Amino acid sequence: MEQPLLIYNTLSRQKELFRPLVPGRVGMYVCGPTVYGDAHLGHARPAITFDLLFRYLQHIGYKVRYVRNITDVGHLEHDADEGEDKIAKKARLEQLEPMEVAQYYTNRFHDAMKALNCLPPSIEPHATGHIMEQQELVRQIMDNGYAYESNGSIYFDVEKYNKDHRYGILSGRDLENVKDASRELAGVGEKHNQADFALWKAAQPEHIMRWRSEWSDGFPGWHCECTAMGRKYLGNHFDIHGGGMDLIFPHHECEIAQAVASQGDQMVHYWMHNNMITIDGKKMGKSYNNFITLPQFFDGSHPLLQQAYSPMTIRFFILQAHYRSTVDFGNEALQAAEKGLAKLMEGYKNLKRMQDGQKVKGQQPIEMAFVDDLRQKLYDAMNDDLNSPIAISHLFEVCRVANTLVDKKASITAEVAQALLSLFCTFTFDILGLMEETGNSNKAREEAFGAVVDMLLQQRQQAKAEKNWALSDKIRDDLANLGFEVKDTKDGFSWSLNK
Ligand code: ZN
Repeated sequence: MEQPLLIYNTLSRQKELFRPLVPGRVGMYVCGPTVYGDAHLGHARPAITFDLLFRYLQHIGYKVRYVRNITDVGHLEHDADEGEDKIAKKARLEQLEPMEVAQYYTNRFHDAMKALNCLPPSIEPHATGHIMEQQELVRQIMDNGYAYESNGSIYFDVEKYNKDHRYGILSGRDLENVKDASRELAGVGEKHNQADFALWKAAQPEHIMRWRSEWSDGFPGWHCECTAMGRKYLGNHFDIHGGGMDLIFPHHECEIAQAVASQGDQMVHYWMHNNMITIDGKKMGKSYNNFITLPQFFDGSHPLLQQAYSPMTIRFFILQAHYRSTVDFGNEALQAAEKGLAKLMEGYKNLKRMQDGQKVKGQQPIEMAFVDDLRQKLYDAMNDDLNSPIAISHLFEVCRVANTLVDKKASITAEVAQALLSLFCTFTFDILGLMEETGNSNKAREEAFGAVVDMLLQQRQQAKAEKNWALSDKIRDDLANLGFEVKDTKDGFSWSLNK
């Protein structure tokens, strides 16, 4: 089914009609996580944004090859102040193999992605598994004269490149303000110019993660892996490259320079970037102590969280904003999302009741034209640069209609009910990727659990009032066997669980 999908291209700074390089097929690369710690909210947004794109492209009939890498070398660029690889540092502190650290956090990242119902990518290449491809990229750039060697390290010659091409086309920066903004300390004294970036770094003697090369024992610069692995799995030219807006500069800017310097032209057709997430209006960062990881969201264990938030609440919250707008995560906003999602799922239950043959006769019949109109609106929203908030507002319209049906204020034929339910399911579950959560949130579970104990103890009160001591004692003893301590108080009872 052909859909006129418009997507915003960061490179052209406008929405463009999506046309794949090969009809019917899409190649898509998204920058994945660096695995030396738990995924946080900043990882959830690109994961969910590009999962939405992946799902929608497949839904409208494309065969998609979705590549998302695992950065298992903790590059110096992230932590220039200390000059030690982050994965190696964690390994040293915890007395583990570096690959043990990377594997541990890769597994946890996968768990979080599964909980958020993000489909796995088609290929998930690891940076450390593609050292040869990265060395080959560096060699090509050297051969074309856009890189130089300095003390065994190889740097990209940004000044030279900028004379022949333009450096900064993606971020809109020019070389002069790049030089001023560059505060990277690594390689000072080795680089010809401040704006130059490392393609290969010679390793210090204490550096654990290192590979042999013709230049030195060392490791690749951070930007190399995505260019090398994107090319390997998607070819010299592919359709979509995505990531968070924070990656536009320097990472993606450097990727473009590496591609042009090595093969003569750009690799990527559409650059897509999701906006960032703030927490209570502040940037996420160590200095604010607001780095909330996904497992902390799911169990509510971070001090900034008033409760646990289920993975689907997080997903729904992210989808409620357009991917290019900012999102501020606060408890109130999350609680509102939790309610919104519950409302949507309630609407789904009502719709299913309609389908199950519960005939409701009323005054205003809901016609097939209503469903067709709604379908068009839903596709229009998604085709307009994945406007998920508008799509969600139309799904709420379905819920509203479902309520009027339940309240017997309208009627519907079985055929229309079936069409409405099917449309709702396609967009809610297949495209937006929401799921029904059977377990509810931990908080809801705890509340229900407490209510059941209260209920039992109220029955015991009743038994006591009726002088049914046998029953009253049995309830107390059974609870005690389960680890509950029950106390009789002036007003009735209190209990605690001693386990
Ligand atoms: Zn990348």
